[in-house]
Amino acid sequence: MDKLTKLEKYRQCSDAAIVPSGLESTAFIQGRSATAETGAELIYARQDYPGCLVAEDVLADYEHATSCMAFSSGMAAATSIFQALDPGSSVVVPKQVYWPLQVWLNEFSGNQGIQVNWVERAETDAILAAIDDNTKLIWVEMLTNPDLHLLDVRGLSRRTRGDIKLVVNATCLSPILAKPLDLGADLVMHSVTKIIGGHNDLIGGAVSTAVEDDFWQKLSRLRWVLGNGMSARDAAMLYRSLMTLKQRVLAASANALEIAERLQGHPLVDKVIYPGLSTYKGKNKLKSNLTGEGYGPIIGLHMRLDSEQCRDFCANTLVWRNATTFGGYMSCLEHRASAEYMINQSQNDYVRLSVGLESVDVLLDDLFCALEHYELPIAV
Ligand code: PLP
Repeated sequence: MDKLTKLEKYRQCSDAAIVPSGLESTAFIQGRSATAETGAELIYARQDYPGCLVAEDVLADYEHATSCMAFSSGMAAATSIFQALDPGSSVVVPKQVYWPLQVWLNEFSGNQGIQVNWVERAETDAILAAIDDNTKLIWVEMLTNPDLHLLDVRGLSRRTRGDIKLVVNATCLSPILAKPLDLGADLVMHSVTKIIGGHNDLIGGAVSTAVEDDFWQKLSRLRWVLGNGMSARDAAMLYRSLMTLKQRVLAASANALEIAERLQGHPLVDKVIYPGLSTYKGKNKLKSNLTGEGYGPIIGLHMRLDSEQCRDFCANTLVWRNATTFGGYMSCLEHRASAEYMINQSQNDYVRLSVGLESVDVLLDDLFCALEHYELPIAV
């Protein structure tokens, strides 16, 4: 068999496969006269490759975006956005954002000539008050990890100066439950490692934009020269995950709501935090920011247990995995303070649950059994 025949066979196979194939190729055949400037659209995977383009297009549709870019991790996506700013820019960031991003902003953003105006709480008025003449970007998490505080993105975007980019990290909600671009945000970012990936088998980040402006072009060039785009294998896995995203998110959200409701009133649970509960602070006001399809997989529990007991409780479950992630089809839980260092955000009594697709009864039984090891508070 000569080389051409092999290639033809391969192409036939790609065309006939019902699972998209060839998505993982990282280099592409160029025409005879192609140069880097005038050549084929696909050249080399650090710029673009089919697997990534396909996944990006699907995600852009979910976000109601013009375009989407996939990165090697959520942190790569987040830090690239800050690196695309001009030196001398200031940014406004509430302290209720994913803690390694705070580490990057504290330690490395100065090297880029960026000043960070930190805000104690992710509240609209406090964020607006931190804007100065050089502010070019506001970074917020729409539903904060780990403490599940919902931010009014529509209200914030209405009151933000036009030359400031409002960037919304919507990792804890997914584009099924929130579409920040429809609410006036300029960019939406996800750690697709979490809900969007949904299987705990890929790591990645994604940024989607309302308009392909100069900043977007700069971000794209930055990804090319830094080489921090998503890997071909992860992009293929991401494409697979996107095909079931809606079903997974709706099912996990329905499970989470039922579990949150049934955990309320357990004598060892002081407080259940879940945006779908009637007890959730500010829920009605902020409901209109969401698509109305649910509230996501994450539940926060303030336990009537000390730090060691919380860790022990998490380790004693059989169905729930004691792991530091969320949004997968399998349920996970963790004592959050034990997973944080350098910047501590969580109280010692806080356990974060990520509800998956298992049966609610099985999941609750598992939690209740693990809690049987502890004495009930005397007052109850
Ligand atoms: N943003 C949020 C809200 C996260 O929870 C995480 C990770 O947990 C990230 C960003 C970073 O994503 P990655 O771990 O994919 O780098």
